[in-house]
Amino acid sequence: MHDALVLDANAVAGDLAELFGFEVTAAEHRCAHCGNVGAMGTLLAWTQGPGITLRCCVCRDVVVRIVRTASRTLIDVSGAAYLEIRPL
Ligand SMILES: [Zn+2]
Repeated sequence: MHDALVLDANAVAGDLAELFGFEVTAAEHRCAHCGNVGAMGTLLAWTQGPGITLRCCVCRDVVVRIVRTASRTLIDVSGAAYLEIRPL
């Protein structure tokens, strides 16, 4: 992992809003690997691969992976113990 390629998840906020249908960076998550709890916007984003990878800012394990193809979008959130979305 090259830190020069790392962004925070706010850099992909538009992509996340398009996929989830709402602003998701303020949603709370818990890392399934280390238990860190924080806003989705605190995740670290790698965007240079074939998709978007969001990693925990504490343990750097993968929390969310998003891959788009011509016909579908795959979203893997298995690295999150939960996502908490609160009404505005
Ligand atoms: Zn973690």
